[in-house]
Amino acid sequence: MPRRFRSRAQGRIEVVPELPEVEALAAFLRGRAVGRVIERAEVAAISVLKTYQPDVTELSGRTITGASRHGKFLDLDAGRDGAPLHLVMHLARGGWLRWREAMPDEPARPGKGPLAFRVRLDDGSGFDLTEAGTKKRLAVYLVADPAEVPGVARLGPDPLADGFTTEVLAGLLAGRRTQIKGLLRDQSVIAGIGNAYSDEVLHAARMSPFRLAAGLSADDVAALHDVIVTTLHEAVARSAGLAAGDLKSEKKAGLRVHGRTGEPCPVCGDTVREVSFADSSLQYCPTCQTGGKPLADRRLSRLLK
Ligand SMILES: [Zn+2]
Repeated sequence: MPRRFRSRAQGRIEVVPELPEVEALAAFLRGRAVGRVIERAEVAAISVLKTYQPDVTELSGRTITGASRHGKFLDLDAGRDGAPLHLVMHLARGGWLRWREAMPDEPARPGKGPLAFRVRLDDGSGFDLTEAGTKKRLAVYLVADPAEVPGVARLGPDPLADGFTTEVLAGLLAGRRTQIKGLLRDQSVIAGIGNAYSDEVLHAARMSPFRLAAGLSADDVAALHDVIVTTLHEAVARSAGLAAGDLKSEKKAGLRVHGRTGEPCPVCGDTVREVSFADSSLQYCPTCQTGGKPLADRRLSRLLK
């Protein structure tokens, strides 16, 4: 893959962790952190911690027994007999997990930097949760049961679970007079797909992001189900075994249309286009997805009026 030709897009797009990256982070932590004892957790940005009880000091001395994923939430199990405890983390848009083989000696202090939360392990390693940008949405929860986290409790079915069949997807879409792009990103409908992979899924399905979910035929739903599962499995496979620090560049390199406005579509060569919204943008290929017709960019057309 000639990655050097993709530097333009790589410099511009924001990499937001979605299901494949969180899955890879969970796998990474299973290899590195499970079995280790937590020395202590340090809160560097008070707003990050969304729960008050139990206190973070409750993590100290506990062994990490598991690392898993719920949608885009990362879950470290630090429970012991009769005292369940989960450290649930949502990296949100600007958040990331940075693994460190050797943690610095000085404690994490509230400050202006990106550091939000730090976990030190008994062998001197550990990880930092960092958040770039001004919209602070990174969230950490300390709970007995992950289902106590409202965002976890609300999650729709996981698209990589065995039970996610074409029939299940058909049931989720039936009667929804909502654009398919928005529906795919809705965590209460399907867990784990965000802005990037919904663009990728719709491109692979050759489907307009503005199609109404309720209008899809049984064949459309079956094709969509196939590309959802394939796209996510491929992304998980690409990320497998990568260190936490390498996941962002791998994600960027694997994207075909997302974040690639102005570049040629790798399938047909048409120019990838974009529709902008207040808080985000979507990318698509007109030839592959909309019969060659560019979609109206509402923000742009409003500005031109
Ligand atoms: Zn195309």
